Amino acid sequence: MTRPAPKGWCPGAWRPMETGDGWIVRLRPRACRLDATQVVGLCAAALVHGNGLIDLTSRANLQIRGVRSDTLAPLQTDLGALGLLDADAGTETRRNILTSPMAVPGDLTITLTDALQARLGELPDLPAKFGFAVDCGETRLLAQASADIRIELGETGLIVRADGAARGRAVDPDTAIDTAITLTHWFAVHRGTARRMKDAVLALPEDWRTSAPAPEAPPLQPGTSPAGQVLGAAFGSIDAGALAALMTGSQATALITTPWRLFVLMGAETLPASPFLTHPDDPLLRVDACPGVPLCTSATVDTRGLAKVLAGAPDTLHVSGCAKGCARPRAAKRTLVGRDGRFDLVIDGCSWDEPARRGLDPDALAKGTEQI
Ligand code: SF4
Repeated sequence: MTRPAPKGWCPGAWRPMETGDGWIVRLRPRACRLDATQVVGLCAAALVHGNGLIDLTSRANLQIRGVRSDTLAPLQTDLGALGLLDADAGTETRRNILTSPMAVPGDLTITLTDALQARLGELPDLPAKFGFAVDCGETRLLAQASADIRIELGETGLIVRADGAARGRAVDPDTAIDTAITLTHWFAVHRGTARRMKDAVLALPEDWRTSAPAPEAPPLQPGTSPAGQVLGAAFGSIDAGALAALMTGSQATALITTPWRLFVLMGAETLPASPFLTHPDDPLLRVDACPGVPLCTSATVDTRGLAKVLAGAPDTLHVSGCAKGCARPRAAKRTLVGRDGRFDLVIDGCSWDEPARRGLDPDALAKGTEQI
């Protein structure tokens, strides 16, 4: 079965999206980084103008929840004062760039991210979710993260690679951005109805597929890393007050967002107690669950409450409020899909695939009287 159609646009700080708990206002941190002042200011804004919850998304973005029509304008003013608001909605939409969390100021990854940001005006019209990954470390940390054009290290030097192609085109730091922009124009001309590069890549000429990428890096996990202390946010949900206290208490200098419901505290001197996940074996890291009831108007079930009860299973588990599968748009060993207040169960598939069982009672699942 095919995935239900997503909305044709992505919400931002200029164009919020209405959900069950008000509007969500999404921010795209530049180079996936915020300094400590920005983090604390963002948390204060989420508490004053939203409901105090911040989502960490699968594109390493942050979204403030629970914003109302009368709090949107003051929130935008606060975000502007923190340097977190783009000049306009068009610029915000184009700035869809993932940057490796292990990059450090002044290195090639940060330099190329900055250079790409400065030239977004040269891009053609692209589908809303079209984006870039800049990942120039010796191993590729963002290899499995969603992106359409990848600027990364190859076996013999820097490459620009179309997502879905096994190889990319060799470039050097001076030609990388020109080449990436050229590839966006190729996509705009040849994409037909495709919205993502991987769906158009079969038509890509061979001279874009000459250089193999470097090996993939092992997944990032909570704990110590070269960039700082890595922590997890269960289901990507962050309590703004807890994050502000963590930033202040740890004396961290900056926060790096990642696409894996993990964030990195740079320069933390201590790690005070917090609700965030610090151990790589925490079972909540292996469960995906979207906001569900009452946060999403498409949901009829409590997803995260059930996911917490079922966490700890040996295989991947996804609890989805409906067939769209926002929290995990890919297969899991077991996927519970909400429908009319009950759950269907998909085995080895996605939330939109044919269920193996239907109409499971949420209470029985939570109590363990209904096994999956
Ligand atoms: S998957 Fe979850 S968050 Fe996405 S639309 Fe359905 S209920 Fe809402």
